[in-house]
Amino acid sequence: MTKEPREIRCKGLGVSEGIVLGQVLRLQHGTPHVYHWKIDDADLETERQRFRAAVGLASRQVLTIKEQAEQRFGKDHAYIFDAHLLLLEDEKLIGDIERHITEQHTNAEWAVKVVGDGLLYLYSQIKDDYLRERGSDIEDVMQRLLVALSGAQPENRSLSEDAVIVAQDLLPSAVAELDLAHARAFATDMGGWTSHTAILARGVGIPAVVGLRDSYRRTKTGDRIIVDSTRNEVILNPSADTLEQYQTESVRRLERRGAADRVERGPVQTADGVEVTLRANVEVPSEFDGVERYGASGVGLYRSEFLLARRGGMVSEAEQCEAYEAIAKVAGSQGAVIRLFDLGGENMREQFQEPEKNPALGLRAIRFVLSNEAVMRTQVRAILLAAASGHLKIVLPMVADVSDVRRAQAIILEEATGLKQAGQSVGAVSVGAMIEVPSAVFMADKIARIVDFFELGTNDLVQYTLAVDRGNDEVADWFRTLHPAVLHSIDQSLKAAARGGIPAIVCGEMASTPAYAVLLIGLGATDLSMTPSAIPRVRRAIAGIDAEQARAIATECLNCESANEVEDLVRERFAKLWPQLFPPASLPAPRQVK
Ligand code: PEP
Ligand code: MG
Repeated sequence: MTKEPREIRCKGLGVSEGIVLGQVLRLQHGTPHVYHWKIDDADLETERQRFRAAVGLASRQVLTIKEQAEQRFGKDHAYIFDAHLLLLEDEKLIGDIERHITEQHTNAEWAVKVVGDGLLYLYSQIKDDYLRERGSDIEDVMQRLLVALSGAQPENRSLSEDAVIVAQDLLPSAVAELDLAHARAFATDMGGWTSHTAILARGVGIPAVVGLRDSYRRTKTGDRIIVDSTRNEVILNPSADTLEQYQTESVRRLERRGAADRVERGPVQTADGVEVTLRANVEVPSEFDGVERYGASGVGLYRSEFLLARRGGMVSEAEQCEAYEAIAKVAGSQGAVIRLFDLGGENMREQFQEPEKNPALGLRAIRFVLSNEAVMRTQVRAILLAAASGHLKIVLPMVADVSDVRRAQAIILEEATGLKQAGQSVGAVSVGAMIEVPSAVFMADKIARIVDFFELGTNDLVQYTLAVDRGNDEVADWFRTLHPAVLHSIDQSLKAAARGGIPAIVCGEMASTPAYAVLLIGLGATDLSMTPSAIPRVRRAIAGIDAEQARAIATECLNCESANEVEDLVRERFAKLWPQLFPPASLPAPRQVK
């Protein structure tokens, strides 16, 4: 008799709301380990045949993927797989690997690795950006060959209806590649509230629990799993009793949701008449519906790097233009703010960069685009062209001071002039700066004089002000959104914008959390951009409070000396003033003394 697997509960951090019962799909990340062993003379031909069979299998797989890609995205986008097929047919490459097997008496996996790494090294030395980027094709093909040699199936990314993605870490690019229509939930060992995977999960409304530490090693694909972000946990192999309890709860939740589904639109007013604009942050097309559905006033932040993540590499000017036109259409008369690619850091670093020792402090965001001018110019042209038929703005991510802004503005101006001279129609595009690092906060008055608007990226503002990695669950206790240093940074940036006479949108995750949004109003924010599905609850909170009272609380918070003190104060004041709006679970939890 087979024993029922034991129910296991793993605690983490619920970062995207919801409860889901499904089946585990383990997603492994990274290259398989490759071992080296010796092949005797007598076995060399068999080894070469094993390699050729793997090449055949890999080619057949690529052909199938290419056909699927043609059907899903059209012929134009399937061309990358031609490059993979050409590599698998390349006599020199295949011949080199076979020769390595023969001459070094080595197993095929090792030969693939040695020859592949050699070729990758050569590509990494090429000056031409385009050719150098082709290295990722080689890496992809080598990995496919290694999987084919191991006899394993490549990862199945077309998901069953109830797939719960379980992974150690989930890079945003891997998420973007998934068939999100079918992924029911994410559960990862690593990650934090503001990691991009968490943001994306909230954006597309997929429940997620991160920071589970060791759930990945405890699961097998196909296991039953419950992801319960409301209780910050996942339950592996739930017992019959647990299943029953969850099934009853899910029916109740659906009933409650039905009752709460009336949507208001446009700006919201606090009870004492301060008007606040509510915009949407979007990353992928499946979120676009939410802009209208949740009554957003346009798109306050489009994280354009997700466009590349979905395609697994650079995207042509024409395709980008089409994508930005689509966003402008979704945003309507309120317009959309397109952020220049925020690449580097945790975003697609593998596709575009050599590994860096400190990626968050490395060639990220504005530094990346200024160092890869061709990439920036292509994107800027695409935005300018798309702006001819819609309302678009550009925001520059992670600027440190006016020199970053001026360099970017000069490029934008050159491209606009070039397009006009070529007879193309371009739209007028205002340019803003994201304030998300301490240097930008210190220089905010000067930056405000030369840009059209600010966007406060509070996720990075917390990360960089407090020097706490936003995606590292080991330091999650130090990631304190309500730290007085963070509140002072927000306060100073908003005041600098007001002094400079420019608007400021707050677009970090802080704006999506009702209690934090109220504090932002208290600090003087009147324009918030957030995950679309958060808009109704933030709207309800703002409509129910007095801005004047929020200002008084914010002033008290600015005078606190620690994050604990701010959180205690917020809990105490909010519970007293607005008990209906802010039940204890919606307020920062009291800290455990360890
Ligand atoms: C932020 O940092 O708050 C922000 C909006 O940008 P991202 O989360 O994409 O870094
Ligand atoms: Mg940011």
